[in-house]
Amino acid sequence: MSALLESYVAGHWFRAQDEGEPLLDAVTGEEVARVSTRGLDFAALVAHAREVGGPAVRRLTFHERAGMLKALAKHLGGFKDEFYALSLRTGATQRDSMVDIDGGIGTLFSYSSKGTRELPNDTVVLDGVTEPLGRGGAFVGQHVYTSRTGVAVQINAFNFPVWGMLEKLAPAFLAGLPSIVKPASQTAYLTEAVVRRIIESEILPAGSLQLVAGSAGTLLDELDEQDSVAFTGSAHTAAILRNHRSVLHRGVRLGVEADSLNCSILGIDVTAEDPELDLFVKGVVTEMTVKAGQKCTAIRRAIVPDALADTVVTAISDRLAKIAVGNPANESVRMGALASRSQRDEVRKAIEALRNSADIVYGNPDRVDVVDADAEQGAFLSPVLLRAHPGATEPHDVEPFGPVSTVLTYSTTDEAVALAARGRGSLVASLVTHDPAIARQVTLGLAPWHGRVLVLDRDDAAEAAQAGGHGSPLPNLVHGGPGRAGGGEELGGIRGVLHHMQRTAIQASPDMLTAITGRWTTGAERRVDEGHPFRKSLAELRIGDSIVSDSRTVTLADIDHFAEFTGDTFYAHTDPEAAAANPLFGGIVAHGYLVVSLAAGLFVEPNPGPVLANFGVDNLRFLTPVKAEDTIRVTLTVKQVTPRTSADYGEVRWDAVVTNQDDAPVATYDVLTLVAKTWPQEDA
Ligand code: NDP
Repeated sequence: MSALLESYVAGHWFRAQDEGEPLLDAVTGEEVARVSTRGLDFAALVAHAREVGGPAVRRLTFHERAGMLKALAKHLGGFKDEFYALSLRTGATQRDSMVDIDGGIGTLFSYSSKGTRELPNDTVVLDGVTEPLGRGGAFVGQHVYTSRTGVAVQINAFNFPVWGMLEKLAPAFLAGLPSIVKPASQTAYLTEAVVRRIIESEILPAGSLQLVAGSAGTLLDELDEQDSVAFTGSAHTAAILRNHRSVLHRGVRLGVEADSLNCSILGIDVTAEDPELDLFVKGVVTEMTVKAGQKCTAIRRAIVPDALADTVVTAISDRLAKIAVGNPANESVRMGALASRSQRDEVRKAIEALRNSADIVYGNPDRVDVVDADAEQGAFLSPVLLRAHPGATEPHDVEPFGPVSTVLTYSTTDEAVALAARGRGSLVASLVTHDPAIARQVTLGLAPWHGRVLVLDRDDAAEAAQAGGHGSPLPNLVHGGPGRAGGGEELGGIRGVLHHMQRTAIQASPDMLTAITGRWTTGAERRVDEGHPFRKSLAELRIGDSIVSDSRTVTLADIDHFAEFTGDTFYAHTDPEAAAANPLFGGIVAHGYLVVSLAAGLFVEPNPGPVLANFGVDNLRFLTPVKAEDTIRVTLTVKQVTPRTSADYGEVRWDAVVTNQDDAPVATYDVLTLVAKTWPQEDA
């Protein structure tokens, strides 16, 4: 008998109290492992996440968490051979495994870098700008995101045992939540192997990752208001979870990614001679055969203009005929097995249902020639292409989770959009067109029904293919879809992190808001008497440290000089008559960039010191025109200090306000600088 998979619970590997259910190799039909959670203490599992894992992760700043994700990605990269070998047993080819294993590790890297670049080195995230709530500026509002104190439960499908786990784990961890990972039993042996490597590495804090290998048992009963469940799988299971009492009555957040009848539309502008036709055909064939079509994003409906239907069917069939099906360990094989024989039965049933309103035009669901394997022992299936009858309904309702797609035809662009919408909400649609007007019409028609739309033509095809094309969710783009696709949303860069956090509107005085958020708020106290803040290292700078500069009168000669020197001779700065006719200025005004440059001259401390570089400005606004003989001064205040974990400097964001002789604000912006952590700098 093969080994029983273990779950990782409360700091220990747990072995079930029975022999478990066998999990069979998708290619040979041999037993790979057994799985069971009989006797698992689900209450202890959840308590450990809440009491040990959660507090440990929330103690870390976003940057510290991001650093751990990077270390983890590097660590897992060292075990790829082991993971690839196990992945073969799920029926995956080398290329399929790359999507799952390298794709999963890549997602960790991506979240690590986004966390470092786009989140503060803190535990709270500010959302939007400060809202004035009173007339005098003493009462303001600010939205903030904080980590929820519960656990992130992640229930995954069988098709991506590695990526499925890591794409949910990375944003949850960055958000400060401990994860309980529950892979689909069928391929849980690969997920278990990865979790073992993660636990062994001791990179993540204790309690921040636990594993349930086998049935979810009473896990959901243990959850409450601060907890969330992210689910990927069938609409049937999604409905069970939606009706679970923890979701209905205890406020557990549930995110669902379920069945999806994704489509690809060939634009009505495309002719048989255009390169777009080939791009369309390649896209459909790739999506039918990668992962043997067991992808939530695969193209199930190929929507083509009537006039090109025969051409498209022939071209897809010709390409499918070249796909060798069989043992994924054999290098000539382009498509491996489905995950299990029962999964193959499900797909055959779906094809039968589709045949009510479509004819098979390529492939035989009951027969396939296989390379280097036993066709009956392994879960092999031929790619199957169908062509829908006019008015067909099944292709919009039945999801064959395998190498199956149906060609549907249309005669007007509106009809193509209407057909796509009959999927009742999908994860992704492709549109292949080289016509910008069609691109806009179709994309705006598809967008309400889809989480992602890929617009493909000869110009972006090569790079789109490198990025994975239609079927690849990317960490920086949203993954999920409305309606039938589940209504959930994952990834999308930092959006995916914020989903795990609570947004709260804070109402307070500017001083209180500064103390709460760690970021200086307009109206809060400034400290101006401690010398020039450019002389202070990162360690010495405090939020609110300010300098009020000397004043300077801007002369007509300054404006003339700037115009001539830079070449910016726009009439408002150089032509008194034309400037007088300008309804906003009524005369010559200084260039905005002159004002900002003069402001820098006023606030800068010129000597070598801890300020190393200026790397930009944010939110620059010119509020009042500066005329010749106006006198300006600038107030610069430390707004936010962000040490970089792996450098001997950090970022300082300064609030800059330029005012005129009447104290009216002339320009406001944030100055962004890099400042040494210590000064004089210690010898390297
Ligand atoms: P399931 O919905 O059966 O399983 C998905 C996950 O949910 C698995 O981890 C499963 O665990 C778990 N699960 C099942 N029942 C419960 C429950 N009552 N409470 C908590 N967790 C539960 O989907 P499959 O993975 O078996 O795939 C079946 C079909 O789902 C496919 O044929 C396909 O049609 C669709 N699918 C759609 C995907 C998409 O994103 N569009 C992705 C994958 C599948 P266990 O394995 O231990 O039962």
